Amino acid sequence: MKSSYNHAPLPADGQAISFAGGRFQVPNHPIIPYIEGDGTGRDIWKAARRVFDAAVEVAFGGERRVRWYEVFAGEKAFRQFGEWLPEDTLEAIKTFRIAIKGPLTTPVGGGIRSLNVALRQLLDLYACWRPVQYLPGLPSPVKHPEKMNIVIFRENTEDVYAGIEWREGTPQAQRVIEWLNERLREDKNPKQIRRDSGIGIKPISVTGTQRLVRRGIRYALDHGRKTVTLVHKGNIMKFTEGSFRDWGYELARREFRRETVTERESWILESKERQPNAGLEVHARAVEPGWEMAPEAFRRKIVEEVKACLDSIELTHGRGQWKTKLLINDRIADSMLQQILTRADEYEVVCTPNLNGDYLSDACAAQIGGLGLAPGANIGDEHGVFEATHGTAPKYADKDMINPSALIRSGALMFEFLGWTKVAERIEAALAATIAQRRVTYDLERLLVMEGATGVQRLSTSAFAGAIIENMQVASATIG
Ligand code: NAP
Repeated sequence: MKSSYNHAPLPADGQAISFAGGRFQVPNHPIIPYIEGDGTGRDIWKAARRVFDAAVEVAFGGERRVRWYEVFAGEKAFRQFGEWLPEDTLEAIKTFRIAIKGPLTTPVGGGIRSLNVALRQLLDLYACWRPVQYLPGLPSPVKHPEKMNIVIFRENTEDVYAGIEWREGTPQAQRVIEWLNERLREDKNPKQIRRDSGIGIKPISVTGTQRLVRRGIRYALDHGRKTVTLVHKGNIMKFTEGSFRDWGYELARREFRRETVTERESWILESKERQPNAGLEVHARAVEPGWEMAPEAFRRKIVEEVKACLDSIELTHGRGQWKTKLLINDRIADSMLQQILTRADEYEVVCTPNLNGDYLSDACAAQIGGLGLAPGANIGDEHGVFEATHGTAPKYADKDMINPSALIRSGALMFEFLGWTKVAERIEAALAATIAQRRVTYDLERLLVMEGATGVQRLSTSAFAGAIIENMQVASATIG
């Protein structure tokens, strides 16, 4: 470890977080690098840091304290070092394993490496973790926002993030089109790709899928959640999105057999319980809605599936035992966007490829007060970078106006990830208490007034942080 990064000396009495035996070892005074961020990043970081320090103090009474360590990226780095993303920043985050950041401007004109992409690649931050939970008192466009309490794990390295594209009319695009059309002809497939097409390729791998689903299932088991839903578009993209679903189920069966049951298995076991003496075909009919019209070979396959299920898990999962297991199901992405509006409470943990996750997390966030409330984290096995979902909102920069909740909640995720759960709980409880008192920033005030709410008090960013800190002791007492 170096003694300084970007010429800034390390905090004298802080120690690095280490990782051994599959766990983080967090010292009492961990050094945590932070990037303040551009635009309103400055406002929200100042506010969030006060809340974090207060929560650590209340939770551990002075025994533990974070040693924040500033590292540079974005406009501040460019002004000080002539670089948007100094190597030292990446190295510091790699060394200290955990970092938290405000939003960064994407400079116009291009030519710079995105920090998020660089970090994702360097640290293999393969899961984007986005919990979306409604807090009472928040404005919402839906009638029952309290039904929303979903934790999304979005794959962070493949699909469109690893996509390859060729612009229409380029020699490369022409070559790919010719090659594909030739293959289609050989396969006697009547489809042909139009010559004036742009081309995009999206890879989804077994490795990328299974490590994400593993993380989602572990999270659900550790947090007492009842379901994990694989969200995909496998009805159309069979060998990418469809395989994501299949590999997800396969992983659940292979690595979490005792703790999980798939939705189809639950139907088979339920049918067996209702009609214990019936033959396999009766149960096969119960799980396959298309049975009547299905060809014989397909029917045989379903009967085999029923037999394999009963042979392997009837003893461990039958006679109602399956009801105590973590349910693994899957939903098609477009239907899922409908489901979160109509029956959000049926979903708890969602695992999904990159692009679906992008749509889904913003749609969920809109139901719980919008971007100012939506936290996020990019996590791998040994590193994590925590950040609000929103951007720099430059028109509000340095006006002490913007809502810091998303960054504050991202910090709560960071403490949870590190095992300082007491801190995370206190942050969330104090934030919830402040919102319930209708002491809010401009964005929430605007929506609450539109909804006809009364007694709303509009606070600045710093005053809002102050109100959360005021509520910390009381919130702490209620948690115990
Ligand atoms: P944005 O910064 O997210 O802001 C868009 C609008 O969303 C704001 O004008 C504001 O709406 C609302 N908003 C965002 N954050 C809020 C908060 N904390 N509290 C209350 N309202 C909030 O999106 P953008 O204007 O498209 O992007 C600005 C810059 O940020 C761009 O350079 C973009 O590339 C960058 N960006 C960075 C990241 C990142 O670093 N992770 C992510 C996204 C975008 P109202 O005006 O209606 O109040």
